[in-house]
Amino acid sequence: MVEIKTDTALERMREAGRVVAHALAAVRAAAAVGVRLRELDAAARTVLSEAGARSPFLGYRPSFAPTPFPAVICASVNDAVVHGIPDDYRLRDGDLVSIDCGAELHGWTGDAAISFTVGTARPADMELIAATQQALDAGIAAATIGHRIGDISHAITTVARMAGCGMPADFGGHGIGRQMHEDPHVPNHGRPGRGFPLRHGLALAIEPMLMAGGSNDYRTDPDGWTLRTIDGSRAAHIEHTIAITDDGPRILTLP
Ligand code: MG
Ligand code: MG
Repeated sequence: MVEIKTDTALERMREAGRVVAHALAAVRAAAAVGVRLRELDAAARTVLSEAGARSPFLGYRPSFAPTPFPAVICASVNDAVVHGIPDDYRLRDGDLVSIDCGAELHGWTGDAAISFTVGTARPADMELIAATQQALDAGIAAATIGHRIGDISHAITTVARMAGCGMPADFGGHGIGRQMHEDPHVPNHGRPGRGFPLRHGLALAIEPMLMAGGSNDYRTDPDGWTLRTIDGSRAAHIEHTIAITDDGPRILTLP
């Protein structure tokens, strides 16, 4: 069931989204060559805790997962696409890192992700990150009254295809509100004019995941969580929580 949010609820989601943005900024500031992924998780935990927010990631266990998620961020490095578990891995020069974070504040949730490089960036990684940002921007721009979910999907698909990138077929964005994952699903692959009609008060997480190798195939690590590209190519993942409004799409996960 799709819940249309009141304007008051959207204001609450904006506050949760602000906490997510601050947590991601803290992670990015802490990320450097030699820093452990676990330390990035600690940086996000501090922000959530100081804001009085709960993590919707910690202990989360969707049907595909063998174990509850053990952290407040997903940290996916290089060929990891999404759902990487922050462990003792130390960041190396030239790593491409995607960080996903959520926060629940006063019963409402925000969800966002960033991709960045550490140390000396490879030009190809900068292009991949730029294409992923462009796919997100196109998806958000399509999130207007009169459009449908498929128009968002199609906008993302178009950018990914032009960049020669693949996207895992089974993972995408989602409705969001009281829960992190609500209806409707927001596929990254899709056709225009299809799916749930967009209306004022609909809140969505939009999250393109681009894989540089161009294949849509992926594999899952033995940990049951980490998604990796099938060909070892690198991946980027950028996400915002937005609200559809009569005045256009409103990003809720900005600082
Ligand atoms: Mg997310
Ligand atoms: Mg999400």
